[in-house]
Amino acid sequence: MKIAQTRKLHAAGILPKPAPAQEPEALRERLEALRLPFAAEGLDGLLHESVKQDWNVTAFLDAMLRLELERQEERRVAQAIRISHLPTGPTISNFDFAFQPSVSRSQLQTLSTGQWIREGQGLLLQGPPGVGKTHLVVGLGLRAIETGFSVSFYHLDELMHQLKKDAQLDPAKLKYRKYMAVNLVIIDEFGYQQLDREESNLFFRVVNYRYAKGSSTAITTNKGIASWPSVLADDEVLAGAILDRLLHRATVLNIQGRSYRLKELDAQLQEQTSTTTADSQTTAGSQEPATARGQTSVSADRLAEAGDGEAL
Ligand code: ADP
Ligand code: MG
Repeated sequence: MKIAQTRKLHAAGILPKPAPAQEPEALRERLEALRLPFAAEGLDGLLHESVKQDWNVTAFLDAMLRLELERQEERRVAQAIRISHLPTGPTISNFDFAFQPSVSRSQLQTLSTGQWIREGQGLLLQGPPGVGKTHLVVGLGLRAIETGFSVSFYHLDELMHQLKKDAQLDPAKLKYRKYMAVNLVIIDEFGYQQLDREESNLFFRVVNYRYAKGSSTAITTNKGIASWPSVLADDEVLAGAILDRLLHRATVLNIQGRSYRLKELDAQLQEQTSTTTADSQTTAGSQEPATARGQTSVSADRLAEAGDGEAL
């Protein structure tokens, strides 16, 4: 009979207390019964280490409990990241602050503590394409999960799809939806598509509910505040009501600078250029490398046009 089953019998006074464990196998069973699976799994290694390093009882217990705590925390973070739908890759640590001087490292460090989420404040990241808005908000989302907050990441169109499906849902059920319930909702790419009246109202419902509840919402956008009515069915009043709730005690990061995507494209093209140059030294009459450079500036212009890059 497993210890988990016999514990109830002991508690009821039906069985005598088990003798102190002499065998690792019995100790492992006790750990599993207490739901300490990582300590149970690591027991052989810990016992081996304890003999090798001549640990006393306190050191052994400490090592065992630390192993369990660390593994449980890793598991919690991994699960929370999976259900948050945060894209993988971007972190605050791998953001190149030198490339984007309009982003303050110390401000990001402050945001990384999660105090703004504890206080239910909002966050707006505004700027043209490629400047790192999504990267930063994803990095902050990860930090928030590590700090213990629940997070959910949506592209605006995914959120809209979900909101339309739930449009007729009973308010008592609606509050359990992830976009209502989590500590931090991230909405990426507001402003790239216009919302019709129904969509604008559904968007307001989320912003309003979260604001009233004191939960944080983070939004990335290429649109300056003045253009928000044009995204929200040309409804100035509704846009005002949304902005009022979003920006009350919010942090606004207005990122102005070069597109990182173009920096990467530039680097690739320069690499191609040097390969072409090397080839041209052996092949008479080959294309001049300026062709590749020309493409870079065309793309740069196109991308600059794509975002209106208005200041707030
Ligand atoms: P935006 O959301 O502003 O359009 P992204 O955050 O999607 O821009 O950035 C575009 C790409 O460039 C992403 O792959 C992102 O990881 C990378 N990137 C942007 N800015 C930086 C930066 N300063 N340091 C490192 N990578 C960056
Ligand atoms: Mg983006």
